[in-house]
Amino acid sequence: MNPQQLMDDEKKYLAQTYARPPFVLTRGEGVYVFDSEGRKYLDCAAGIAVNALGYNDAGLVAAIQHAAQGLLHTSNLFYTEPQVALARALVEKSFADRVFFTNSGTEAIEGALKFARKYHVERGEPQRKNFVAFRGSFHGRTMGALALTDSEKYQAPFRPLMPGVTFANFNDLDSVRAAITDETAAVIIEPVQGEGGVYPARDDFLRDLRALCDERGALLIFDEIQCGLGRTGKLWAHEWSGVTPDVMALAKPLAGGLPIGAILMTERVASAMHVGEHGTTFGGGPFITSVGLYVFNRISDPQFLAHVNEVGNYLLERLTEINSAHIKEVRGRGLMIGVEMDVEAAKIRERGYAHGLLLIQARDKVVRFVPPLVFQKTHVDELVDKFTRVLAEVE
Ligand SMILES: *Cc1c(COP(=O)(O)O)cnc(C)c1O
Repeated sequence: MNPQQLMDDEKKYLAQTYARPPFVLTRGEGVYVFDSEGRKYLDCAAGIAVNALGYNDAGLVAAIQHAAQGLLHTSNLFYTEPQVALARALVEKSFADRVFFTNSGTEAIEGALKFARKYHVERGEPQRKNFVAFRGSFHGRTMGALALTDSEKYQAPFRPLMPGVTFANFNDLDSVRAAITDETAAVIIEPVQGEGGVYPARDDFLRDLRALCDERGALLIFDEIQCGLGRTGKLWAHEWSGVTPDVMALAKPLAGGLPIGAILMTERVASAMHVGEHGTTFGGGPFITSVGLYVFNRISDPQFLAHVNEVGNYLLERLTEINSAHIKEVRGRGLMIGVEMDVEAAKIRERGYAHGLLLIQARDKVVRFVPPLVFQKTHVDELVDKFTRVLAEVE
């Protein structure tokens, strides 16, 4: 492969919706990825909080090979075993009673919105069609999820979006109180905001939000697409607060790098949707759910979660110790840490490549660390060492 030719072809043949750095990734091993020239990068991004088990994990590869020899696809018109097995595992380890599978995060959000509206229709309150989301939120790019995503840049060219969305201030109960009306179907929140800059919701805020939703008759939806599934050091990010939602959206790491999403919900929400009222051709097919069950069993193991906790705490501590005038704040939970800078995060990200660091950002000034969950303390040391050198180069 000629990498320059490949990059030229990308510019020619792909819709230009991404500005990619000038190298071609060809393989991965553990928590490292390699480009076509053999350069090695410590992966602090995990494909945007997706590759929880890192790269070329022997167990995951075997699970994929096994699944590939079984049924790949049958549509949702028929029973298949892996779909039921994964749903059962998710239910047994969560607040939820039932699951609906999707192909992506944004699709899980769309489905969550439909379940929420249908719930109120069935209860004789069809006027409850509206949603309350939060400043700094990210819920996806399709028309409903985009309407809940607080970004002028993402929204503006695509209006009209789904109407009826009000944005409240994150961690500010009074502002939610003012936003909820008798026409609110649900309040939707990321327990730790990801794209918006890595902002954890306060535990007491989530508890008060739960009580407020109950009092006002609105459902509570948690978007744990990024912060769920072990990322914060507990299986679910909301476990830190002790409250549970009515509906929860999952996606990113659930099949270890293959596309899947899921909507988890309580019985009273699930029972509002009847045969034929929602559907998907690919969602929850036997191949992907077979892989998903393998990944979920790995991630939900208490020892695995204890590891994320330990390494996450160590990462937070080490990043906090860095002595650089460019760092304004270090925040987050588990292996989901944001470092707020006084310079453009893009600058840091670009410098990082030369030092063998694969970084991503969140908004303009936050460097976001969401490495594979199999990161070890020695990887943290390498990360901090390289990141410190990158910071020293930035004026
Ligand atoms: C990534 C993400 C989404 C969208 O998921 P896609 O699979 O990209 O559609 C939604 N919500 C949150 C919190 C996310 O991080």
